[in-house]
Amino acid sequence: MSFASRFLPRPARFAEATTEASPSGSRAEEARRALLVRIAEFVEGHDLAVTASNLATICGGLSGSHPELAQAFTAREIAGEPIDQRWLDSLARLDPEGHLRIAGLEALMDKLEYSLMRFAQTARSAQSETSDHRGALGAQIEALAEAELAPDAAGELARVIDLSRAMLARIEQVESAMARSQDETERLRENLAKARMEADVDHLTGLPNRRAFERRLVSASLEARAKNEQLAIAFCDVDRFKLINDRHGHEAGDRILCAVAATLNENAGDACFVARHGGEEFVLLFYGMDKEAARAKLDAIRRVQAARQLMNRDTGQPFGKVTFSGGVAEVTEDADTRSALGRADAALYRAKEAGRNRVMVG
Ligand code: GH3
Ligand code: MG
Ligand code: MG
Repeated sequence: MSFASRFLPRPARFAEATTEASPSGSRAEEARRALLVRIAEFVEGHDLAVTASNLATICGGLSGSHPELAQAFTAREIAGEPIDQRWLDSLARLDPEGHLRIAGLEALMDKLEYSLMRFAQTARSAQSETSDHRGALGAQIEALAEAELAPDAAGELARVIDLSRAMLARIEQVESAMARSQDETERLRENLAKARMEADVDHLTGLPNRRAFERRLVSASLEARAKNEQLAIAFCDVDRFKLINDRHGHEAGDRILCAVAATLNENAGDACFVARHGGEEFVLLFYGMDKEAARAKLDAIRRVQAARQLMNRDTGQPFGKVTFSGGVAEVTEDADTRSALGRADAALYRAKEAGRNRVMVG
């Protein structure tokens, strides 16, 4: 079956099937199932990792919900070029509107954080107001209770005083309930902050993930421009990683990824931000460095990695030399931050083409 017939959307059929308010829902369901099958075939057929961003990209291209992606898929097929992780990543990376990024979760967390903050503020001010009122009310009740009263008013006032004391007790209860809910809110906010931090970490390597990198790229480039400093970026991709997986298994592959992540992280120094971009690809930001300085720095790390002897601890067999290739670009060279990603990526392609285990500058 050709690529186009297997993988490309059939817009008329899908539009029909998904907009139809069918009581049985059978056509819509059938279309949904067909789309799922095509996505699964695509992932398997091209040996791609099942990650949220891969699925979002593939779904965008195959379902027709993202016309630029559908076009990119067709162009790739016509050019007869391989559909691999790097190509998929380059699609997501160059997605200017951020359609593919999983922005929903972030927006939800922002909203929740805002609501909690508002609630905490309201609870705090309500509590202090209640507390002020309670103080004033208490003082008045006690003044009344101690006042010299005319004998005919005494019974009436005693009842008012009793009622007021009961009210005061109730206010105290409400106040402590509010204090408790304020503690709850604080705990919720702490949990949310923790969840936010965890959402920025890649669970395999412990490095910041792509989401964290994208945010860091925006803030670092704004800061570099404001301070008139340089900022460079590099993509690193493990060489022939698929072979490692094939020879030693996926779990051993995972351990190799952790080892490469550690080499990058331990040798990059303080002026560098290291993240896992996805799959066997890492991304680095070099603060205060032009592309030549960043290239030299990354090349030194590359040499450290190439000199390491990694062993498969399950079998005692050496993994052989595990190397990576790198592509460097200067973020501050161009007004458009994202164009540096394209230049670094192109440089990485050239490093691969030139024989791997090297760093090129874009
Ligand atoms: P190249 O030198 O051209 O980069 O070749 P390559 O084999 O490294 O590149 P390719 O893109 O063909 O294969 C990358 C492989 O990485 C395919 C995918 O299954 C694997 N991979 C992606 N993410 C993970 C992961 O988290 N763990 C493991 N073990 N493998 C992964
Ligand atoms: Mg790759
Ligand atoms: Mg690779």
